Amino acid sequence: MSNDARHDLVVIGGGLAGLAAACRAAELGLRPLVLEAGEDDRYICNSRITGGIFHVAMHDIRVDTAEARRHIENASCGFARPELVEALAENAGRSIDWLRRQGIRFIRGGPTPELGTVLAPPRLQQFGMHWKGRGGDVLLRTLSDRLAENDGTIMRGARVRALLMDSGRCIGVEAEIGEEVRRIESAAIVVADGGFQADAELVRQHISPAPEKLCQRNAETGRGDGIRMAAAAGAKLVGMDSFYGHVLHRDARTNGRLWPHPMIDSMAVSGIVVDREGRRVLDEGLGGVSVANAIARLADPLSCTVICDSVAWRGPARDAILGPNPNLAKAGCEAAVTNTLDELADKVGLPVGQLGETVRLYNDAVARGRLHALDPPRTSDRFPSLAIAEAQYFAVPVCAGITYTMGGIAIDACARALDENDRPIPGLFAAGATTGGLEGGPNSAYTGGLSKAVVFGLLAGEAVAAQAARQAA
Ligand SMILES: Cc1cc2nc3c(=O)[nH]c(=O)nc-3n(C[C@H](O)[C@H](O)[C@H](O)COP(=O)(O)OP(=O)(O)OC[C@H]3O[C@@H](n4cnc5c(N)ncnc54)[C@H](O)[C@@H]3O)c2cc1C
Repeated sequence: MSNDARHDLVVIGGGLAGLAAACRAAELGLRPLVLEAGEDDRYICNSRITGGIFHVAMHDIRVDTAEARRHIENASCGFARPELVEALAENAGRSIDWLRRQGIRFIRGGPTPELGTVLAPPRLQQFGMHWKGRGGDVLLRTLSDRLAENDGTIMRGARVRALLMDSGRCIGVEAEIGEEVRRIESAAIVVADGGFQADAELVRQHISPAPEKLCQRNAETGRGDGIRMAAAAGAKLVGMDSFYGHVLHRDARTNGRLWPHPMIDSMAVSGIVVDREGRRVLDEGLGGVSVANAIARLADPLSCTVICDSVAWRGPARDAILGPNPNLAKAGCEAAVTNTLDELADKVGLPVGQLGETVRLYNDAVARGRLHALDPPRTSDRFPSLAIAEAQYFAVPVCAGITYTMGGIAIDACARALDENDRPIPGLFAAGATTGGLEGGPNSAYTGGLSKAVVFGLLAGEAVAAQAARQAA
């Protein structure tokens, strides 16, 4: 084992969170080292294949702090740690200015508020993964260049396996670099390794009884290393049971043209989701992210079918960006279509009588304004609840697509990792998708993977620089 102590800061992971932390620390005069498990020049990670929409809780990221706080609080329903809400609301706009100063370009991606700040060049309106030369790829290459200009270093092919601790303080890491295990000491460590979505064991423990039945709608580089290492060092883990993701066609698990789009969310929230018995199993009105979480938690996450009528199919299912109508067919996978519900049940293998009965009960609740009395109840304040009454009828077998996990290492507003008593662990910081406390909760609140990564990456870099300045003084 060799030793190396030339760096003021070691960052675990070279996604947006890690590079933002390293670049900001380098700007402030530190010499950071980023250890990145990926070996390629353009190593794959969620930041590289991202959709590129910088938003705050699906609202414009450029709104003032008070409005941003309101949007995050509304989404979170009291789950998020208040100091993290404040930190995100206060620093979201500034983080976009900072990215622009690094040379990152943004465009308006569409008319709705959340699309105001989208990485350029935007994602191609095509099926399957096309990330080379698109926004996330340019983002990481630009930040890597800025880091090199400021005397920072990225070491690729370096997978961190353990944190080095001394009397409760984090003093470095142990990394596998090729055949070698290297011990690298540093006054500060930032964990930014991107969550645990691709680790079947952690997903089974916290999210779904059958992780193999979820679609990995991600780069599969988030293997929970940081979360395990931080927990072993005494860090608290929070909100581990939720993920950001979408409802996808069931074949997306094996057909790369069916993820990350088309998403079936718009059809699910304007129709119903039934199990193999033809019965509703979740609250469709909470939105696509919540529906995907509920499907993943079922004993069999491959048991659901989304049903709607022609009003929903020609309305919300067509109006959504890359929605199922007509994009499922364009991706080579048709929805089942029939003139009656009985024919539809027969066609997709659901009990004929039961599907009709489920729709009758649902339509009755819509007509009488009693959606809350259904079992399970249906929320109706976010998406219009439409009767399923107008032929033709449509069915799509679905699965849950997991993009990134929302929970993880508890942090404070300076991105310091916290122990079980909410005290900072000296020397240990965390940022991005490996952290918890902001997103998730009962409604799987989504505040934005990119905004979380850049804001807490910046805050981590600044906190480490402040710590270094205090130690120097
Ligand atoms: C298809 C897709 C579309 C998305 N669209 C959007 C969007 O439009 N808007 C939005 O807000 N969010 C979006 N997201 C989510 C967002 O991209 C991520 O939440 C964000 O990029 C996470 O950044 P990160 O730096 O925390 O993690 P990552 O980008 O995942 O980076 C973590 C890095 O750590 C490395 N690593 C892992 N383990 C180790 C280890 N042990 N040692 C060293 N390195 C390690 C990995 O290789 C990886 O490079 C999308 C994600 C996907 C997959």
